Amino acid sequence: MKKQRSILMLFVVMFTAILFSPAKASEPLRVAVSIPPQVYFVEQIGGDLVDVLCMLPEGATPHTYEPTAQQMKQLSQADLYVRIQVDFENAWWEKMMSANPDMQVVDSTEGVEFLEGHVHEEAGGKHEHEDEKHRVEESDHHEHHGRNPHIWLSPRAVKMQVEDICQGLVSVDPEHKDSYTTHKESFLNTLNSLDAEIQNKLAHLKTRTFMIFHPAWSYFARDYGLEEISIEIEGKEPSAKEMAELMKIAKEGQVSVIFVQPQSSRRSADTIAKQIGARVEMLDPLAANWFENMRHVSDIFAETLSR
Ligand SMILES: [Zn+2]
Repeated sequence: MKKQRSILMLFVVMFTAILFSPAKASEPLRVAVSIPPQVYFVEQIGGDLVDVLCMLPEGATPHTYEPTAQQMKQLSQADLYVRIQVDFENAWWEKMMSANPDMQVVDSTEGVEFLEGHVHEEAGGKHEHEDEKHRVEESDHHEHHGRNPHIWLSPRAVKMQVEDICQGLVSVDPEHKDSYTTHKESFLNTLNSLDAEIQNKLAHLKTRTFMIFHPAWSYFARDYGLEEISIEIEGKEPSAKEMAELMKIAKEGQVSVIFVQPQSSRRSADTIAKQIGARVEMLDPLAANWFENMRHVSDIFAETLSR
């Protein structure tokens, strides 16, 4: 009898071990993301429960980046991928998925309202993807081509992504639902305060129009009543004719500041600035400390547009 009971206990122990072994009781959840600001978002919600792998290295642009073999290997260890639908992620998606077919996926663009009118060049000349993308779009009744991908650059647009990220973490690791939900609520409060802070900073400006080489701040402009004029046209440097037109627009709009970013060329911005007597300022759309960067950027907007 005693022997039977210990055999039964052994089965219970074994069964429990099998049941809980994939949950990695103490190991953090391995979450892969595309760009540095997403690391910040996932860490706000996941805290110590997550270990985040970012595909885009510092200084690279999400529009043309190509993941390395080493990164693909790292990706094969990930439990969850948080999508944001930037260009390189879309172009490499199938390859990334085949590197890790067991990986769960959450799309943080779910429910986000995209702005149109921003066509980027295909990453790495992966033109065979285009037909496929079009097929998906048609079957989804969605037009993804030419939409502006920079949805991480306005607190209001980030709120929806935060909800999606939290749902993704909970679905892969339901055991820690309470922790994820509590952290999410607290981050949403932080985002609301940040939104109000930026709103106040930008309430009274001398001008609300700015020029920029790469139109990364369109969502920020939309949410805080600013007008963004892009120098880059459909992801390309403007032609001589387009440059002349841009200078005319800049003069008429009394543009006093032109923004550039560390990941793009600043040549045409410098040329226009020199012609119209505007200053050139650097804004980083991909800074790793997203929160501090948003405050810093809103200070620069407030300062340069008040002159
Ligand atoms: Zn961009």
